[in-house]
Amino acid sequence: MGNKYNFENTVDFAKRQDSQDELKEFRNRFHHPIDDKGHQHIYLCGNSLGLQPKSTESKIQQELLDWKKYGVEGHFNAKNPWMPYHEFLTEAMAEVVGAKKDEVVVMNTLTVNLHLMLVSFYKPTKTRYKILIESDAFPSDKYAVQSQIKWHGYDEKDALIELKPREGEVCLRHEDIVEYVLEHGDEIAMIMLGNTNYYTGQFFDMKSITEVGHQKGCVVGFDCAHGAGNVELNLHDCGADFAVWCSYKYLNSGPGSLGGCFVHERHIKDRNIPKLAGWWGHNKDTRFGMRDGFDPIPTVESWQLSNPPILSMAAVWASLEIFQEAGMSNLRKKAKRMTSYLEFLVNDLGNESICIITPDNENERGSQLSIQVKNADRKLYDKITADGVIADWREPDVIRIAPTALYNNYEDCWRFVECLRKGLDG
Ligand SMILES: *Cc1c(COP(=O)(O)O)cnc(C)c1O
Repeated sequence: MGNKYNFENTVDFAKRQDSQDELKEFRNRFHHPIDDKGHQHIYLCGNSLGLQPKSTESKIQQELLDWKKYGVEGHFNAKNPWMPYHEFLTEAMAEVVGAKKDEVVVMNTLTVNLHLMLVSFYKPTKTRYKILIESDAFPSDKYAVQSQIKWHGYDEKDALIELKPREGEVCLRHEDIVEYVLEHGDEIAMIMLGNTNYYTGQFFDMKSITEVGHQKGCVVGFDCAHGAGNVELNLHDCGADFAVWCSYKYLNSGPGSLGGCFVHERHIKDRNIPKLAGWWGHNKDTRFGMRDGFDPIPTVESWQLSNPPILSMAAVWASLEIFQEAGMSNLRKKAKRMTSYLEFLVNDLGNESICIITPDNENERGSQLSIQVKNADRKLYDKITADGVIADWREPDVIRIAPTALYNNYEDCWRFVECLRKGLDG
């Protein structure tokens, strides 16, 4: 990899980048975990659980206060009335994932939303019943897809295609996905990929995969758990039929917080799509009539089932306000450069047992590098942790490092690589 940014491996250089960073103020909008002695950890785990915005507490407090003050009347009288509460989040969430307002809703959790989407879009027939996923898909996605295949009475061994990278490679090549779909697409009912792979950090070309999938008559959906708030998804333009994601990783909305769901506008008014229904998907004007037959809202909101947990919604809202202020394209620009700096530093260690398995093309990855350390074991990771780094270890030998654009900086990257160097030296 050429050093196109003219990076330097010194802490002064890293600090200089931080002082010139237009987004630097956002770091102070978050609570950074501290150790027993009051030192800030180097937090590089935003791909697993994002840090807490300082504004989250007051946002939740407001709802607790209004519940205290109004009881059930808070549905209408609260400062932010609970009846339409999810609507306050829609525009900002749509911006984050690059979709139209009518195509996006915050609801449920990721795996639940994936099941709802499979109910609507997985319609197997005798000749076209297979689902294509990645061989190292996130376990929950695989279980969801497997169980739906069985639910429809098909054999998962036959109906689930797990696309593997080439022999000796870790990432799937784009051209191999395309070739597979062109060759076998007639049997594939649905293509369901993690748009940014949780393990390798690889960011797929969603638009081109969607195009080739549609060309062969397949439904195309994406799990954007590691994409939302991390990369520019352009969900509407890429043309995917549906997408789901969670909000507790790059979207900083708190452990187990609500998920998001996207359905392309060409489907949202189609009343023939099978759908599991609940009262929150019903026409808002007559919802409390309680007697009418199901009259779906003419947006993706018709997939909603229950009235949502307002306290979690408040946390999602607090986070989305920050994203609106910072802007996804600004965040992405910083993320590309900062991740490339981390890559430069790791490569500059010149350690032969290290291999970055994430693609080296910055357009094919988000804010994550997966660093394989051959022959290492967890002890290396434990050493780094003892030095104050919070990251993520995947057996047998991979450290996942996610410098997020909102609250990490170049100095974090530099300090982490120093810790890694010391750990490797023994
Ligand atoms: C984090 C993650 C999940 C988690 O699913 P939940 O339903 O939120 O527990 C699922 N799939 C992928 C790809 C993930 O990265």
